[in-house]
This record gives sequence, C-alpha cells and structure tokens, in this order.
Amino acid sequence: MDISVVIPLLNEDESLQELEAWIRRVMNENKFSYEIIFVDDGSTDNSWNVIKDISNKNENVKAIRFRRNYGKSPALNEGFKIAQGDVVITMDADLQDSPDEIPELYDMVKNQGFDLVSGWKKKRYDSKFAKNIPSKFFNFTTRLMTGIKLHDFNCGLKAYKNDVVKNIEVYGEMHRYIPVIAKAEGFRNIGEKVVQHQKRKYGTTKFGMSRFIRGYLDLLTITFISKFGKRPMHFFGGIGTVIFLAGFIMGVYLAFQKIFNSVYGMTDRPLFYLALICMIIGTQLFLTGFIAELIQTNSSRKKQYGIAEKI
Ligand code: UDP
Ligand code: MG
Repeated sequence: MDISVVIPLLNEDESLQELEAWIRRVMNENKFSYEIIFVDDGSTDNSWNVIKDISNKNENVKAIRFRRNYGKSPALNEGFKIAQGDVVITMDADLQDSPDEIPELYDMVKNQGFDLVSGWKKKRYDSKFAKNIPSKFFNFTTRLMTGIKLHDFNCGLKAYKNDVVKNIEVYGEMHRYIPVIAKAEGFRNIGEKVVQHQKRKYGTTKFGMSRFIRGYLDLLTITFISKFGKRPMHFFGGIGTVIFLAGFIMGVYLAFQKIFNSVYGMTDRPLFYLALICMIIGTQLFLTGFIAELIQTNSSRKKQYGIAEKI
C-alpha cells in the first residue's frame, strides 16, 4: 500500500464527508493505493455515524473510536499503530489542511529520502492574537532548543516513512513535537514543505491558549527524556554527588576549625546550615536517581532500540 492517511478528530461531523471525497479524488487521480484511518477521539456529536456511513461506501476507510476524549496525540498514536502504507500522512479533520498536498508529500518521503516532512502554513488563516503571534514565538524557541530548523512544528499536515511512526510513541500533547521525538530516535532527515492553509469552514478550534503553557512543559519533558530517559542516574546522581560533596567539604571545614582552632558556636554560623542542607539534598537527589533507574529498568513499556537495518 502506498499511503495511509491518519485523521484524528473531535466533533467534526460537518467536515468529514467533504474531506473523504476530496482525499478519494486526489488518490484516484494519482492512482495511489491508500487507506484513510479516522480516529474518533471521543466525539459527542454525529461524527461516528458519519464515519460508519463513509466506510460503508469506501472500503479504504478504516476507523477507531475512543471511549472518551483522550487528546490528539493518543489519537495519532493509535492510528500509527495500524497504518500500513509506505508513507503515512497525518491531517486535521477540519478541512484546514488540503489533501492536494498529498502527492508532493508522498514524493518527498518516498523518492527524495526524507524520514519526515512537516507542513509549513506560511500564510495562516487563524486569528492573529490567539494563534499567529504566540505560535511564531513558540516555533522560535523550539527551534532554538532542539536545533531542528522547522518553521511550523504544530502543523497537523505531516508525512512520515512508515518506519518512523512505528518507532515513536506520542502521548499527552506531544504531537507538537513529533519531529523532536523522531530526531531523538535517530530519524534525522527532516524536511519541510510550504502548504496551503484554509480558514476553518465548520465548527471551532479545539485548543485554547493553554496550549502554549503546556507546550513548553512538554518541550522540557521531551528534551529531558530523550537525553536522560534511559540513564536517569547520570542526571540525578551527577547533580546529587556535586551538591553532597560541597556540603561535606563545608562540614569537614567546620569540624576542623572546631577541633584544631577551637572556634566554637558552629551552629550559629550560616555555613553550618548550608552544609546540612547540601548533604541532605544531595543524598535525596542521589536516591531519586536510584529510584528512577529502578523504574526505568522495570518499566513495562521497555522500548527497543531503534534498528535501522538488518541483513
Ligand atoms: N482533535 C482531536 N482531539 C482533541 C482535539 C482536537 O482529535 O482533543 C483534532 C481536531 O478534531 C482536528 C485536529 O485535532 O482534526 C486539530 O484541531 P483544531 O483544528 O481544533 O486545532 P487548530 O487547527 O485550531 O490548531
Ligand atoms: Mg484546525
């Protein structure tokens, strides 16, 4: 199969039929073999019925329905699990992303060697203050922190090599950072394509301003996990040791003064408390490192290492 289109959706019943027809037209015109995977993220409107209807008419349409709303990332994750196409394309359900971009995205991944191609909504049709300006800032800091030169991390329209989606796990609200996760897994060939963007035709946006605050917290988590996720002791143990040693040296210095120079009144000196605090915090960080290692080695989600090829 050439292409899997994964579409997460929450209450988008008005758009779905139009979207499916559009994708079908593009696929047929280009003679792609394809599947469309709708992931209904706990919609409370008529979306699921519409999807059932669509899949009765088009055998290339598959669908997953969540029991409740988990979020866009879990929806993508489940879609990725069952995607069979050589190239996997994700797209929002609200008709803001254009299926006409599919052939070019497919070509970039299939023939030009990209692991991942991210859409770039160069000209956006969203409200300036709620989205465009904060989003510029968001993309700027993410570029700075991750070293990945993308203009639009959050774009819903992306294309992946099948291998990529099978080797990453997207949870929480990590969908904004799939390129970062993919890069941490060793998929380095990340490209970008300017894509058409439309105004939302039906319904309203599902994300508020809270996305930016959560976005930064997620970025911290991702940077931390991709660096120390498999070796937490190196982080906690490292800092713990340094702090403990600092406290210990201060303590030795105080004891030395008391014994050999007969300086008394140690417990009145700030240094005494600093020494205590440092030793306690240092030990705690160290123990945290141990616990983190225990959790890491016993974790049921024990991830395999990314293997690029086998002979
Ligand atoms: N979405 C989802 N689960 C959620 C929130 C959103 O599956 O909890 C879907 C939504 O239906 C749409 C896509 O994610 O297909 C992008 O959402 P939206 O258009 O509201 O985001 P925006 O374009 O405003 O960034
Ligand atoms: Mg949208």
